[in-house]
Amino acid sequence: MASSSPPAPLATGSSKRVAVVGAGASGLAAAYKLKLNGIDVTVYEADSRAGGKIKSNSRDGFIWDEGANTMTETEADVGFLLDSLKIRDKQQLPLSQHKRYIAKDGSPMLLPSNPIALVGSSLLSTHSKFQVFLEPFLWKRSEPTKQESVGNFFQRHFGKEVVDNLVNPFIAGTTGGDPESLSMCHTFPDLWNLEKRYGSIISGAVLSKVFGKKEGSTKIKGTGGGRKRPRGSFSFLGGMQTLTDALCEELGKDVLKLHSKVLEFSSICNEGSSLDSWSISHESPGKKQAENKSYDAVIVTAPLSSVKDMKITKRGASFPLDFIPEINYISMSVITTAFRKERVEHPLEGFGVLIPSKETQNGLKTLGTLFSSMMFPDRAPRDMYLYTTFVGGTRNRELTKASWDELKGIVAFDLQKLLGAKGEPVFVTQYNWNKAFPLYGHNYHLAVEAIDKLEKNLPGFFYAGNHKGGLSVGKAISSGCRAADLVISYLNSCSDDKRNFQF
Ligand SMILES: Cc1cc2nc3c(=O)[nH]c(=O)nc-3n(C[C@H](O)[C@H](O)[C@H](O)COP(=O)(O)OP(=O)(O)OC[C@H]3O[C@@H](n4cnc5c(N)ncnc54)[C@H](O)[C@@H]3O)c2cc1C
Repeated sequence: MASSSPPAPLATGSSKRVAVVGAGASGLAAAYKLKLNGIDVTVYEADSRAGGKIKSNSRDGFIWDEGANTMTETEADVGFLLDSLKIRDKQQLPLSQHKRYIAKDGSPMLLPSNPIALVGSSLLSTHSKFQVFLEPFLWKRSEPTKQESVGNFFQRHFGKEVVDNLVNPFIAGTTGGDPESLSMCHTFPDLWNLEKRYGSIISGAVLSKVFGKKEGSTKIKGTGGGRKRPRGSFSFLGGMQTLTDALCEELGKDVLKLHSKVLEFSSICNEGSSLDSWSISHESPGKKQAENKSYDAVIVTAPLSSVKDMKITKRGASFPLDFIPEINYISMSVITTAFRKERVEHPLEGFGVLIPSKETQNGLKTLGTLFSSMMFPDRAPRDMYLYTTFVGGTRNRELTKASWDELKGIVAFDLQKLLGAKGEPVFVTQYNWNKAFPLYGHNYHLAVEAIDKLEKNLPGFFYAGNHKGGLSVGKAISSGCRAADLVISYLNSCSDDKRNFQF
C-alpha cells in the first residue's frame, strides 16, 4: 500500500508536545517521525524494555528472536525509516529465502515458487491445479459480506485443497489463526478489494501489476532516487531488535519513559487556543503518578484491551469506554532450539517449514519452524543448527499453557519427524506471548468502529498499531507513521484556526 502524502511541515517557531503510548514498532516509528518534524515527544512504555513484539536475545554464541523474526519492505514507510536511521548496512537478507516448505503426509515438501513448479509439484492434486489455473473462469461469486471467512473466500476461488494445504499453514504461520476464524476483509483487505474490482484474483493480480507499473507505484516515494523496494523478507545483524534499538537511540533517553503504564487521559479546553490539552497519569513501579507535562495530542499504540482498561476524561466529564468490544487474542509460544549439525539427518536449506492443521493426524502439533541459522548463519556457532518453532495459535490454544517438558517434547517430535533431529537439543529456550496477535475475527469491524469513535470524539487523540490495518511489523510501522502525519496535520490546522482568529 502506498503511504499517504506527507503533511505540510509544522509551522516554525511553534513548540508542540505529543505523547505516544507504547514503545512497540508503531509507537517508536510515530515518535521518530514526530521528532523529525520538530515536535517535543514523550513515549510512555509499560514494560521495562522498548520493542513490544520485537524482542531479540543472544547467549552462548546464539542470536534469536522471540517475537517477529523477519519483516518486509512492502510499505514505503519502512524504506523511509531504514534510510533515515541509516541502518541499511545492518539489513540481513536470508539465504535461500525462496525455499519454503509445507508438511505433507508427515514430511516437508518444497513450496512451488512459480506456476511451472506448481505443475510438477505433488502438493496439490491435478484437479486442484486445474482449479488454480482456471480460477479466472471458475471462481464463484458470493453475497458480499464483511463477515466472510478467509477459508470461504479462498475456497470460492481455488478450492478446498488449496485452503487445507496452503492457506491453512500460511495463516497459522503469520497470524497464529486459522482460515475459518479470520475475517477476509480485515485480514487480507488488498485481496478483498481486488475481488471487488476485478472478480478473479489471478486476473486482478496481473492487471493491477500492469497498471501499477504504468503508474510507477512500486517506487519508494520521498526517499530520493525512485529506488525499487527490495523484495522478500529480511532481518538485521543482531536480530530484529536492531531496528527498534536504532529508533530508541535516535529518540534519546529523555524521550522514552519505561516502566510507565498509562492509566488515565484527561483533555482540558484551553481558553484562547483551539487545541485541547491532554494530561496523562501513569503507573511507575507500584505507584500512580500524574504527569505535570501537558500535551497537544496523544498517539495511543497500546493494545485495545489495554485502552478499554484506561480512564478517559473529556473536558471534565467522564468519557466511558464501554463501546470498545472485548478483543480476542491469540496466544503463542516461541521455542528456540539448537542441535549439533551431525545430529540432524536431513537439514533443509531455506526459510522454514509450515504445518497444515490436518498434519496433526501424522502427530505434528507445531505451527511451523524457521530454519534460523540456515537463513542467517551468524545466529549459531558453526557446528550447530538453530531453529525457531511456534506452538499454540487458535489451532492448539491449550498448548501454550502446557508444561515446559511437554512443549519441549512436542517440538522435539516435530523436528525429529521433519528434519531427523536426533536426541536432546544442546540449547533450548522458550517465550510465551499471551496476547501474540489480536484475532481479526468476524466481529472485528466492531474494533475498527470503536477506534473510529475514539478518534472522532476526542480531538487530539489518535490510535495506531497492529489493531488497525494489519498485523505485520511493516503495517505497524506504517500505521504509526500515518498517525504521526495526522497529528502534524491536526496541529497545523489548529494553528491555522488560531491565526485566522487573531487577524
Ligand atoms: C511470536 C510473534 C511472531 C511474529 N512474527 C512476525 C514476523 O515474522 N513478521 C512480521 O512482520 N510480524 C510478525 N509479528 C507481528 C509483529 O511483530 C507485531 O504485529 C508488531 O510488532 C506490533 O507492533 P505494535 O507497535 O503495533 O504493538 P506492540 O509491539 O504490541 O507494542 C505495544 C506496546 O504498548 C505497550 N503498552 C501496553 N499497554 C500500555 C499502557 N497502558 N501504557 C504504556 N504502554 C503500554 C506494550 O508493553 C508494548 O510495548 C509477530 C508477532 C509475534 C507475537
